[in-house]
Amino acid sequence: MYQQQQQRRRTTHCPTGHSSNVAYNNELNYISFYSGNCNLCTKEQFIQELKTWSSGNVNLDKVIQEFQIKVGFKLQWIPYENFHDIKYLADGGYSTVYSAILKNGMKAYWNYNKKQWNYAYINSPIALKELKDSKYDISEFLKEIKNLMIGNDYYYNTVFYGISKNPSTQNYIIFMLLYEDNLHRFLVKKPLRWDSRIGLLRQIIEGLDNLHRKNLVHGNLHSGNILMENCESISARIADFGFNGLTKNLIKKSSDDNNKNINIYGLIPYIPPEVLQGNAFTKEGDIYSFGGIMYEITIRKRPFYERAHDSNLISDICFNGVRPQIPDMQDLMPKFYSDLIYRCWNANPSDRPTTKELSDIFKNIYYLFEGYIKDDNALGKFKTINDEKEIIHPQSCYISRNIYTLYGLQDSLKSIKSGKCADPNLLKFNE
Ligand SMILES: [Zn+2]
Repeated sequence: MYQQQQQRRRTTHCPTGHSSNVAYNNELNYISFYSGNCNLCTKEQFIQELKTWSSGNVNLDKVIQEFQIKVGFKLQWIPYENFHDIKYLADGGYSTVYSAILKNGMKAYWNYNKKQWNYAYINSPIALKELKDSKYDISEFLKEIKNLMIGNDYYYNTVFYGISKNPSTQNYIIFMLLYEDNLHRFLVKKPLRWDSRIGLLRQIIEGLDNLHRKNLVHGNLHSGNILMENCESISARIADFGFNGLTKNLIKKSSDDNNKNINIYGLIPYIPPEVLQGNAFTKEGDIYSFGGIMYEITIRKRPFYERAHDSNLISDICFNGVRPQIPDMQDLMPKFYSDLIYRCWNANPSDRPTTKELSDIFKNIYYLFEGYIKDDNALGKFKTINDEKEIIHPQSCYISRNIYTLYGLQDSLKSIKSGKCADPNLLKFNE
């Protein structure tokens, strides 16, 4: 065993002379003689080619270049011509999402034997996110992503692959591989066993913990932007991180001298009461959103599915402590689990658990199913909601949008409640 390890650690050199024992991007340099792949050769080739492309924006070029030098090829500038079969998928408020085929793929590594690029994801389906306003400071967004991706612990978060620009609208595009399902659609398809639920929650909280350890706040976590990879085992990835910083710039415009927000962006059921009242979104706010995900994974319905997502709901959440209903059924979920959901939903942000605490809890329960702890059937007796369909209220809204905070509504709330004044938060039926 020891000898094997020694052998694996043996230093090797690529033909250019790069050593496998040199750290690159926090990991040891990877060299494969079989495929002619050396991470440092690839990096050098990227640096050589820096002058062969341009996004048309000097600042953005600089960020992508720095990204490729420090983090590697996880981010590339791809010309719009590489996208084929572009189809409209959805409107996401500040961006429009399309599906497309990445015809020529992306550079995966420089083959030092053949002296040519080896491409990955040729003809792969991808999701394009076109940012509607080209004034978005996309370079700030990329800096945030870069900080996140330095190091090797970004496994549970979606990796962004490419940046492009739509020549007809001049809007920037961020794209990634297309995932078949998000968590919501995944849960609708079939009920999960408890071990799978806990496994999923563990992946999601570890992804969130990774953001929080790097002092990043997600700010819009919900079951629609957790992407499901359907390999042999279930795997969840948090998407849309980094957009908090991107939208912050826009929201800033709508906040006043007291630093309170008039508008926020997201889904009312997942937004914590302090943010609905106009305060900043914090790490503790992400935990509140995570409570909604814990709820949905068990109940198989989204929080507040049965209510209109309007100013009345906001006021109930903030002033009356109203939270999504957990059906009063015995054996639906263990008490520690419902207690944990309610702790995430605590009105006082500092009383909510941290990602570290939640991560430890799920890790321990997970081991219980893996057979590491003898009490192996502790959760087996709890029922699964099988057949009930989620019939949502026609004025509920699970697409991210602009929402007026209670601070933004201020004096008009009374008139809105009495019906004297239209509620700007209420979805109109033609929307
Ligand atoms: Zn090399």
